This record gives sequence, C-alpha cells and structure tokens, in this order.
Amino acid sequence: MKAILVICDGMADRPVKELKWKTPLEAAHKLSLNKIAKTGVCGIMDPIAPGIPPGSDTATLALLGYDALKVYSGRGAFEAVGSGLEVLPGEVALRCNFATVSEDMIVLDRRAGRIRNEDASKLAESLQKVKLEKAENASFLFKNTLQHRAVLILRGEKLSTAVSDSDPGKTGERVRTVKALDSSLEAQLTAEILNELSKAFHEILKEHPVNKERIEKGLPPANIILFRGAGKIPQIPTLQQIYGVKTSCIGAASLIRGVCKTAGMSLIDVEGATGMPDTNYMGKAQATVKALKDYDFVLLHVKAPDIASHDKNPQLKIQVIEKIDEMLGYILDNVDLTTTYLAVTADHTTAIVTGNHEGDPVPIAIIGPYVRSDDVEEFGERTCAKGGLNRIKGVDLMPILMNFLGKTKKVGA
Ligand SMILES: [Zn+2]
Repeated sequence: MKAILVICDGMADRPVKELKWKTPLEAAHKLSLNKIAKTGVCGIMDPIAPGIPPGSDTATLALLGYDALKVYSGRGAFEAVGSGLEVLPGEVALRCNFATVSEDMIVLDRRAGRIRNEDASKLAESLQKVKLEKAENASFLFKNTLQHRAVLILRGEKLSTAVSDSDPGKTGERVRTVKALDSSLEAQLTAEILNELSKAFHEILKEHPVNKERIEKGLPPANIILFRGAGKIPQIPTLQQIYGVKTSCIGAASLIRGVCKTAGMSLIDVEGATGMPDTNYMGKAQATVKALKDYDFVLLHVKAPDIASHDKNPQLKIQVIEKIDEMLGYILDNVDLTTTYLAVTADHTTAIVTGNHEGDPVPIAIIGPYVRSDDVEEFGERTCAKGGLNRIKGVDLMPILMNFLGKTKKVGA
C-alpha cells in the first residue's frame, strides 16, 4: 500500500459576500474533488488547534505528524534548506529581502522593484566579503535566491534565534534595530552581529556600481538587506525513521521544501512548477504518479490558492481550485486505487475577506481501498464537517494514513 497527500495551501476559506456567501471552494466547479469526497471518508481538521492560525511551516510539520509547537523555532532555516543551502545544528538562518531605503533609512520598497536575479547575484557576491568584527568565532553565508529574496546563515558557537527582525514589514517605516528577545548572552551576540551586518551591507550596497546603474535607469536601488524570521533547523526523526517508509515531496515553495527535507523527504523538481497560480499543475500530477513507483508516501503541495487569498481575489482562487481539480483528475485516472490511498486537504484557512491565515478548520477527504466511506457528496468546508472522520487535528493525519499502510505500531499487548 502507498499514499499520496495533496496539500492545497490556504485552500479553505470563509463565506464570501460576492460569491453569495459561498466559499471559493464551494463556488468552484470541481468534479474530481467531489468524486474523492463521495467515494472517500471526509472530515474537518484543525491544523494546529481550534482557532489558532498556523503558518505554512508549522501546519506542514503538523500534517507530517510532528508537534509543531515543540519543534518549531522560526521560518528562516526552512527557507534556507528549501533553497538548497545546508544549515547545520546550532546555526541560525534568516530570511532576507533586498530592499530600498531613503537616506534616513525609511523603507521605500521592500522588494527593491523585484530586482532581477542577475543584479541580486552581483550584489550578494560583494556582501559576502564583509568581515565580522564583533564576533571572532562567528561567520556568515549570504545568498540571494529568487529576485529580491535571499537567506543569511550565521555560523558560530553562541547563536540564538531569540532576536527581532530588522524588517519593519511595511513601507514608510524606519529599518529596525535588531534586539535580543531574551536576556541570554547568545541573543545579545546574535543581535549585535545582525546590526553590524545590516550597517556593513548598507555601506557596500549604497556605493555599488549595480545600484548606481539602477538609479541611472530609474530603478529603485537595492541599498539595504532586511532580516526576518531567525530560525534553527529542528532535530527531528525522519519519517523513514518513524514509520519505515520512503517519502518524497513535490512542491516549489522553498519553505515547504525546507520542512520536507528536514523530515527526511526526497525533493522532486518539476519543470514549470513556480509556486504561483501559473504553476505546471499537470506536470506535478504526472510527477506524483511517477514518484509512486519509487516511494511509499508522496506529498504534493500546491501554493497557488494561498496566493489568491492573500491577494483577496476570489475569482483567481476559484480558477486555481479548478486547475487543482484537473490535476487531481489526472491522478485519479492514473493511480491504482486498489493499492493507493489519496488524501486531499489544506494546510490552513486563508480568508479572502481578511487576506490572512485564519484559525478555522480545513476540509479533508481520504479515498483508498479500505476507507469507511460516508454520506458526504461534495468537497467543501461545510459538507466535509458531516463526514466520518469528524474533527481531527493536523498531527492525527499522518498516523491515520500510516495505519492504512500498515506502518503504525500497536500500543499495548
Ligand atoms: Zn500555507
């Protein structure tokens, strides 16, 4: 027996007025999703706990069976790992943006005009030359990833994730001084290093030929690096160690890739997979069917519905859900459902009306040879609530799937 878990990022939603109080999922045309609900067992799920809005990282950890509240220490390390960098135990990684500031350090553009990769690469190379003066035994690696995005990895003995962000999170505000969030020497030192780097990076960037050229062309200069989300890689057992299964992940979002890699999963690349609404849905479906030959458990992640919700765009969200439905149609047609379980769910609710992650439960449906199918006929936030799984927590999902695969251990005699 094998299993596929499809996580549609932020697909669950709240009723939307302009959709006549339906959710985008309820309003979408979705033959495959409904087929899965109709033949499978349905329910709703609190990714972390009722009413708690999860991040995509903590939710995915929970859906893989980990206690997210215990093992999670910040997003930066997952982003770095998901971008193909190595983060060792003890190292602290941060997410970074190339951004534009005024002379008095007010943030004018948090993405430096979505700077091209070529420009960002040249700038990043110069920044790597900075020598840390405050901490003798510490070093750093700074690497640009996509457009304005970058990661910073701090290497050394006495580092902490208990530091604030230098990124104010919006334009019109001053770049923040990084502060220690507890009284430890490690937090003090880490904050000092980050403030030193922030200043040194700014000095190099504002004089850099790439930025002088950008100004001449009328483009915003990338004259500051904003830091946020300091995190360490949690030391967790892999899914192979826990359940004895070979696992892989198909997804483009670096955060999810980082979480999955930390859980010991193999990452499978798909051409044209962008982590955006224009992603290669069919390519992902084909890769999933193919991966099932080599792996016991395949996680297929689609980022697009979350993006549509953050943009508060219900029509785009409906379109994206309909693309996902076609993707699922291909999987249903090409997978042997007498030997494969397929679960479809979301990692959290992202509400069109607020544009944010919310703590509402998400729908879930599982099909496979021995599920106890129920009376639910349609895949939706409200319909699935009447299903046979009732209301579960995110951390329950993996044991439920692994039980079908015969991979959970008996408790007691
Ligand atoms: Zn998410």
